Amino acid sequence: MFGAAIAYGLSRAGVDTLMLDGHDNNLRAARGNFGLVWVQSKGKGLQRYADWSRESARLWSGFAAELTDITGVSIAHRNDGGMMLLLGDEEVEKRKIEIAEMSKQSGATGYDCEIITHADIQAYFPDIKLGKAVTGASFCPHDGDVNPLKLLRAMHSGFVNSGGRYKSRCTVNNIDHANGVFTANTQQGQFSAPKIILAAGHGISHLAESVGIDAPIRPQRGQVLITERIQQALPIPLNGVRQTDEGGFQFGSSEEDIGFDDGTSLDVVQNIASRAVQSFPQLSTVRLVRNWGCVRVLTPDKCAIYEESISHPGAYVATSHSGVTLAAINARLVSKWIATGEQPTDFNHFSASRFHVQAT
Ligand SMILES: Cc1cc2nc3c(=O)[nH]c(=O)nc-3n(C[C@H](O)[C@H](O)[C@H](O)COP(=O)(O)OP(=O)(O)OC[C@H]3O[C@@H](n4cnc5c(N)ncnc54)[C@H](O)[C@@H]3O)c2cc1C
Repeated sequence: MFGAAIAYGLSRAGVDTLMLDGHDNNLRAARGNFGLVWVQSKGKGLQRYADWSRESARLWSGFAAELTDITGVSIAHRNDGGMMLLLGDEEVEKRKIEIAEMSKQSGATGYDCEIITHADIQAYFPDIKLGKAVTGASFCPHDGDVNPLKLLRAMHSGFVNSGGRYKSRCTVNNIDHANGVFTANTQQGQFSAPKIILAAGHGISHLAESVGIDAPIRPQRGQVLITERIQQALPIPLNGVRQTDEGGFQFGSSEEDIGFDDGTSLDVVQNIASRAVQSFPQLSTVRLVRNWGCVRVLTPDKCAIYEESISHPGAYVATSHSGVTLAAINARLVSKWIATGEQPTDFNHFSASRFHVQAT
């Protein structure tokens, strides 16, 4: 997802770009995520990342319109706000504390997220009855969602339409660097360029290390469920329940620290479905048609790493959870930074060196 967004932005700017993509059996968070363009839960402990997520959400409408315009793919982007549903008083109290902490952290920028009541929530969803278990929600006007598979397809297609070259099943095994030129060694041969961008999700760490950047990534599984298609009833997304443009309800997602296993398990599926049914009891009669597990790409603080190597100038690392949310800003500002050297404000906050403060 990161690579596709940045490559799209580069080729749109007229930069000759080759995207080398891995094999079908690679872990690909881009193909199994929840599709939220989400701001309200981002950036605890790193305000620049909270601002960055909001900035990306702001760029999203123009980005979505441009993608549809040049590829003909409608990606079903919505930006009318989103809610985190809260079941029980304890969840409401906990969320109030989090909102107070984020408001304090954000200072003059403001956090822009508020607790709303059961009645307020119901007013957003006139076509489906809210469960009694729902005691409130946090609402953020910057949140939204998109069809993530259509997004990926549109970015790939826009990349190629703009002159970009794409090679699939082309895993980069290692990288050489000599005389200002990087060479990616793959089973399909060697590819050389003066700049190389590493945006390989779970495949990033050893490649980053070879250009002098320590990019610590850990896996976390999330399971997602999808129902048969029914009449549209959810005009805005919730963090654990959203309705796709095609009509299926999507429920998610767990947070399981179990390594690189992208399977599914009945107990987790039951928990996810139970919470969705408590939120909207009428969903108890809707059939589940599919579920899957997918492995998140998490940095230690769950915020992004963007960094150019000091030892190997011209080599860049870009990785994070929230690649859907950040697709717009990756396509716009990150690609511009790589193409022109023009850094977004306070960009050094995203350096992986923040994880090594104690060591230094
Ligand atoms: C369950 C779940 C729900 C999520 N929900 C959301 C959400 O609602 N909103 C949101 O913003 N984000 C969400 N995400 C996160 C989002 O999907 C990821 O942040 C994003 O996909 C990460 O992009 P990436 O490019 O770093 O990794 P990936 O999308 O995993 O892509 C990595 C790519 O690198 C390739 N690759 C790997 N190694 C190599 C190599 N050596 N050589 C060449 N190519 C290589 C792979 O083939 C793959 O194409 C979710 C993730 C999960 C798992």
